[in-house]
Amino acid sequence: RKISPFLDPGLKTSPNALAIVQLSRDNFLPVYLQEPKGEVDGYAEGAVINTRFGSFPHSTLLNVSWGSQVRASTVDTGSRGRKRKRNPVITEDVQDGGGGADTGEERKSVKKAVVANSGFIHILNPTPELWTTSLPHRTQVVYTPDYSYILHRLGARPGSILIEAGAGSGSFSHASARAVYSGYPDTDPEAYGEDVKLENGTKTSSTQKKRGKVYSFEFNEVRYHKMKKEITDHNLDGIIDLTHRDVYNGGFLVDGKSPEADCVFLDLPAPWDALPHFSRKRPETLPPVMTVENGDGGKNTNQDWISPLNPSRSTHICTFSPCIEQVTRTIDALRKHGWVEIDMVELSHKKINVIRERIGMSIAQEKGSSQAPRDVDEAVARLKEVNAKAHDFHSSGRKGTPRATATANGDEEMDLDEEDELDNGSTTQANENDDTQLADSTPPWLQGRLVHRTESEIKTHTSYLTFAVLPQEWSEAQEQAALETWPVGG
Ligand code: SAM
Repeated sequence: RKISPFLDPGLKTSPNALAIVQLSRDNFLPVYLQEPKGEVDGYAEGAVINTRFGSFPHSTLLNVSWGSQVRASTVDTGSRGRKRKRNPVITEDVQDGGGGADTGEERKSVKKAVVANSGFIHILNPTPELWTTSLPHRTQVVYTPDYSYILHRLGARPGSILIEAGAGSGSFSHASARAVYSGYPDTDPEAYGEDVKLENGTKTSSTQKKRGKVYSFEFNEVRYHKMKKEITDHNLDGIIDLTHRDVYNGGFLVDGKSPEADCVFLDLPAPWDALPHFSRKRPETLPPVMTVENGDGGKNTNQDWISPLNPSRSTHICTFSPCIEQVTRTIDALRKHGWVEIDMVELSHKKINVIRERIGMSIAQEKGSSQAPRDVDEAVARLKEVNAKAHDFHSSGRKGTPRATATANGDEEMDLDEEDELDNGSTTQANENDDTQLADSTPPWLQGRLVHRTESEIKTHTSYLTFAVLPQEWSEAQEQAALETWPVGG
């Protein structure tokens, strides 16, 4: 069994493995790399990724170190008819579903851009974060800032058992699989309840529990099948256990057994309808004997109530709801079912863009020139000139605000208008371009001062996160055992 590339990608790309191609800063494309199918006229024949940055035959992306920059092929990959004969490589425009909405545009521009534009891409190993930004969206997904906080608050760690519903597009599932992964079943199978085959027989594992697993549930059949395929494609079969079920009615047992979950994450429209199933004893809110379709073609009954929770630990839960009305209803239900330490959090994620407000360009503007200085000497000469003018201006006692004022230490003070311009992003492009014109050797302090702005396109409200804890219930036997091993009052 191969280890999932999300858990251990190895050092290099390999055939049939998932890779994430980074086209530009925020544009990622998931690709299953294929080996060339053969050779025609000395050229490898096989799949090619066509982008507006050029053509990238899979053969050039195989067996390279993760993180490598790969240059576009200089050979016409055949997407343009007139050169097809010379190089009969089969092309594939960027794959289905990759890159979400961007992909369509990518496709349209591909035909024109191929060969003429030979740029580069980076080839990255899959991580839950990159998968979240590149996965084929079937639903709203949980994004990285939310799931990193949620997994931390749930106490998900290697060996934890986590229940998740619904699975949706699998964004949260991938992140939680990595969080709980403890090696099972890839390394040390015996420690995780697997029997080990020895030369002279079989060694039965003394450990009964398979720890470090995500039990995921999805009601929508199409999404269930797509997600099931992805789990297999990503070698996550032993770590994510996906069940097709309506959890409101069918609950959270798997094959009639308890997953013994340590933590629960509910991304459902009505989490309060799922909560009765997380009781430790048969809940009063369910009929005394409840027989329901379990979604697997059979029926479950709660005559002998089995809790899906780990009996020897407190359980942590998070529900994820976009509306405050859902939150209040969930909290009512949590209280009713004995959950404590209930609180709600909203994450407001902001990306801060830090750029260098280049001194040279503003000085050029001050001089009425649209040309940036050619080199550091020219920038310093201009700066001196502007300093002298500013000095004259102030010592002459004239009123008014110069557009940019150079201070004695070489820093530049922006007037309010300039800062406003920066805030709405209108100067950003110019600033980025300016920076590239300064020689690499220019000391940073001569390149201008650092300014930052919040990127306005970042959506802030995703959902409200409601957290709670269901305390462990102590049995008489546990109490007795605790007294024996823990001397009290001594
Ligand atoms: N957390 C997921 C992710 O990060 O990709 C997205 C979950 S999506 C917003 C909600 C999912 O819950 C949908 O796929 C929906 O089909 C599923 N769902 C809704 N009601 C359900 C139920 N009663 N049982 C199981 N799944 C359900």
